Amino acid sequence: MSFESLQLIPTILKAVQEEGYTIPTPIQAQAIPLVLQGRDLLGCAQTGTGKTAAFAIPILQLLKKTETNERTRKIRSLIVTPTRELAIQIEESFVAYGRHTGMKCAVVFGGVNQNPQTRTLQQGVDILVATPGRLLDLMNQGFVSLKNVEFFVLDEADRMLDMGFVHDVRKLLAVLPKKRQSLFFSATMPPEIVKLADTILQNPAKVEV
Ligand code: AMP
Repeated sequence: MSFESLQLIPTILKAVQEEGYTIPTPIQAQAIPLVLQGRDLLGCAQTGTGKTAAFAIPILQLLKKTETNERTRKIRSLIVTPTRELAIQIEESFVAYGRHTGMKCAVVFGGVNQNPQTRTLQQGVDILVATPGRLLDLMNQGFVSLKNVEFFVLDEADRMLDMGFVHDVRKLLAVLPKKRQSLFFSATMPPEIVKLADTILQNPAKVEV
């Protein structure tokens, strides 16, 4: 299995090669084709397995396929993750794999002044990576609209619940469009995670590594 056989568009394949990747990791080999087909995904995988590229690469490709006017950029993809470190890493991955696609990414997280984040948002982004609390804050102030989200990723769902973010996640789900593609990742699958996944995903493909 190679990245060439995953039917990636040339701009993304080039970026992946520039990263020095030659062989997809097991989660990438399983997840990328399913996400490209439009499936919802339940992924049981830990950090270090290459799961970020497993969702970032196909999402970039799907966004690129149905590109919108640059001057009217809307948040079309939302990635929610529990910590600022993960949020920063995920955004850096989108920037790296998407560097030849023209897609704009931004990251927002709490504990820092929000002004630089709101300035970036006002310039328009296609992909937003966020921690839950700051995302809700910015939404409530009108800096973020989620009504154009087509691709939603909930990353490290088990950690999200451990950190007490379940109410924030439910508030986000209430405003996300019903018609969307959703990807759900968790290192463990206890019953409350399975229940949460059930409320987010429609007929998901399951991948485990
Ligand atoms: P992640 O599990 O997404 O945090 O990724 C773990 C690390 O593996 C990151 O440093 C990635 O840059 C790297 N990585 C992801 N996919 C590949 C790949 N197919 N080949 C080599 N390195 C990779």
